[in-house]
Amino acid sequence: MHDMSPHHPRYQSLLLRDKMAKAYQEGILADTALIAHGRGEAFDYILGEKTNLPALNSIKAASAALLLAENPILSVNGNTAVLAAEDMVKLARILPAKVEINLFYRTPQRVMKVEEVLKKAGATEILGKEEDDYFPIKGLEGPRSRAHPEGVHRADVILVPLEDGDRAEALVALGKTVITIDLNPLSRTAQTSSITIVDNVVRAIPLIIEEISKLRGCRIDELEAIVHEFDNQRNIDSSLQLIAQYLEKDGK
Ligand code: ATP
Repeated sequence: MHDMSPHHPRYQSLLLRDKMAKAYQEGILADTALIAHGRGEAFDYILGEKTNLPALNSIKAASAALLLAENPILSVNGNTAVLAAEDMVKLARILPAKVEINLFYRTPQRVMKVEEVLKKAGATEILGKEEDDYFPIKGLEGPRSRAHPEGVHRADVILVPLEDGDRAEALVALGKTVITIDLNPLSRTAQTSSITIVDNVVRAIPLIIEEISKLRGCRIDELEAIVHEFDNQRNIDSSLQLIAQYLEKDGK
């Protein structure tokens, strides 16, 4: 770990970077996961490294959609497991929802490592394990097309942070409500998903948990109205406007 004080302006970001580097050394992450993290960091920087209003709007819509879901699934990749395993497991417990491992560069070793991380975080039922049944997702090829028959295939609503564009498109094409958390509002995943939360997973998931407890008492028609009134494209445009404002003000 870098020798630095908690008052360093990049302290939180450097802590996350350190976690990612360690996880890579332990074989939990592929090298490309670190590059993906770096892309996320760059966007986080120009979003002010905080949860902005558009993210709060989409967190509310996502929470309502998850509460309305008959079969919600939380899809976890390496980066999400390393950065937010405890929160994902907590979210799975309170909804309740199933957790499914979904790796872009899937290898049996990494699947087992991610499974270990999730178990350590308290997960009891994990789908997408190496020995589990699977069917390919229509339109995708190779190991990343794998999805569990009782998980992603059966799901009506899928929370899939840091997804890749092809998979997000394929899931939407199957008629799923796809909720993503992606710091890049321009990524294909952000643009394709049903509900896009432009925020860091480490901030967004705890806020979803909070929002779910707030919305828990709402009637079904109230939850439906929240989802119905949410306009994903307009909300993404608001995130882009925030970035433009941030750059115009030179980050001040
Ligand atoms: P797409 O295929 O959707 O266009 P991409 O190829 O740009 O995506 P990937 O490398 O597949 O991106 O996935 C990484 C995505 O996750 C990036 O858009 C990056 O901004 C985002 N990201 C990285 N770290 C985080 C994080 N901690 N929280 C939220 N999003 C993140």
